[in-house]
Amino acid sequence: MTLLLLATAALAAPATAAPPGAADAAVLAGEAAGPAIVPAAAKAITGITTANLRLRTGAGTKYKVINTLPKGTRVKLVSKKSNGWWKVTVGTRTGWVSSAYLTLSTKATTNALGYISRGLTYRDKGPNKSSRVVLTFDDCPKTLTAFDAVLKYAYANNIGLVLAPTGACISSFRSKYGVNIAARARAKGQWVINHSVSHVDLRPLSCAAGAKQLQGSGVLSNYGRPPYGALDGSVECAYATAGMNIWTWNVDTEDWKVKNKALTVSRAINRASAGSTVLMHMQWYGFSPDSIRQIKAGLGKRGLKLCRAYRGSDNTGPISSAPRYLPSSLPC
Ligand SMILES: [Zn+2]
Repeated sequence: MTLLLLATAALAAPATAAPPGAADAAVLAGEAAGPAIVPAAAKAITGITTANLRLRTGAGTKYKVINTLPKGTRVKLVSKKSNGWWKVTVGTRTGWVSSAYLTLSTKATTNALGYISRGLTYRDKGPNKSSRVVLTFDDCPKTLTAFDAVLKYAYANNIGLVLAPTGACISSFRSKYGVNIAARARAKGQWVINHSVSHVDLRPLSCAAGAKQLQGSGVLSNYGRPPYGALDGSVECAYATAGMNIWTWNVDTEDWKVKNKALTVSRAINRASAGSTVLMHMQWYGFSPDSIRQIKAGLGKRGLKLCRAYRGSDNTGPISSAPRYLPSSLPC
């Protein structure tokens, strides 16, 4: 009973808004109850996680967390310790998980290790083929007020931002404020792309499980940004399955790391060049009217312009609702 309750709580816990590199911050209490005794099936070669579960560097909770494996992840069993911890491989990684939340199977894992790229569109500058700089903001805004302030500023100044909220973020704003932030942003001529449902590293997942993370409550679009920018063949397969192109970035402000407005702004200004895609996050300091105003002014001094809000495919009409499906060449 305790185990069941814990597993349920683990699933219900939000895992949104973790900036790149901070996967552990949103980690769930998968194995918190400690190892339970699971009799090893004689020929079990695969384990399937029954809750969101931590993959660690050693056989115990004192070891460092490598990653959180979402419920339903298939892992390859390597060996088991007497304390009930399994050494497993998942994707290209090897680590340890508690057996308390593993169902054992005799079927082979389906992680798409041998996946060969199908040649889908995937590039750091995405569909921005113009010389204008596009500012992109991932994850989740802190408040609706903060979000609306940026939308209002961008609209008034004819700036087209790219926003990549997680599905969990959209759900939380819907339940908290009764608002669909993706629709709200598009109505102001802003581009909104997918950033998975719950911001997990997609690499350890099977292609099918990865595709599921890109669907459900996630943003419906033809472009998506993988959490942490983490890519491998399995992730490519997931995007192809979900019918989505991958858009990463080529300028990283590391706003989540520096936690400093002036530094975030100056990095966006000084690291950008013509056609750049600049990465920031909605919960950090680049996401405010004043930061964007400073970035616009600073880029202007360097002879660079920001992408404009959507004004039709020929970019001539008044600002109108940006489409879900981005054109292959963004009218920046
Ligand atoms: Zn993110």
